Amino acid sequence: MTSAIRSKSRGFQRGRGGSERHDPYRSDAKLAGPGCCPGCGAVYLAGRWSWRRRPIGARGIECPACARIRERCPAGVLRLDGNLGSRRDELLGLVRNVEERERLQHPLERVIAIRARRGGLVVETTGVHLARRITDALERAFHSAAELDFAPGEELLRARWTAPEA
Ligand SMILES: [Zn+2]
Repeated sequence: MTSAIRSKSRGFQRGRGGSERHDPYRSDAKLAGPGCCPGCGAVYLAGRWSWRRRPIGARGIECPACARIRERCPAGVLRLDGNLGSRRDELLGLVRNVEERERLQHPLERVIAIRARRGGLVVETTGVHLARRITDALERAFHSAAELDFAPGEELLRARWTAPEA
């Protein structure tokens, strides 16, 4: 149903087409030793962030998700348009449920903010992955395709989903 639209987002594949994506919030340089984010408690160990007990000797290092939240610099921006009306609570619940699920497995995938804007909603996320998961869930729940815009080499996914007529 959404394959034609999805093809716009080919750049989502990491490193596809030879264009390495550049994300200033996720430095490729491995940090020395274990770290722990003072903001959220995520632990950096062996090159990745996870939820675990703080290792002995861990230094305080702000995680990329907390840095994005602090600087209000989203990696995913989703616009929910159309006649949201009575669906608004259902949509908010769906967004929160997906975030909850993804965040447990991926500490860097979080919702920064959900804002009301011009009759619709705007959801900002710290990660592209979460933005995709929320978009997928909306499409499944409402049988209504989203438009995705993701430029290769850029760490910003824009998506626009329009609620079907009630
Ligand atoms: Zn953090």
